[in-house]
Amino acid sequence: MAQLSLKATTPDLIDFDDTTLKITWKDGVTSVFDLLDLRKRCPCVVCKGGHGGKVGTTTGGIQKISLYAVNKVGRYAINPVWSDNHQTGIYSFDSLRMLADGLGGDLTL
Ligand SMILES: [Zn+2]
Repeated sequence: MAQLSLKATTPDLIDFDDTTLKITWKDGVTSVFDLLDLRKRCPCVVCKGGHGGKVGTTTGGIQKISLYAVNKVGRYAINPVWSDNHQTGIYSFDSLRMLADGLGGDLTL
């Protein structure tokens, strides 16, 4: 697995609008995520179709999504509250940065 620096996986600013989630990291890089894409990548057990399932298993048919809120989970992750009232997905900063940089990780479809 690729090694990312602490600065690269620590958010300075988290912001979202109707279609994108934007994270500015401590290393100065800004990553922009498409909300629909992120929703489809929800890493929770339900969306993966059970334990050991694959990300994207049950979320492929989602056409439209927005965010109600983004809650921080400790220092390591965010917990988005989606407009389909789904809020059990925990997105770690490591996996978000890896996704943004094309390094694979837990959110790979
Ligand atoms: Zn989910």
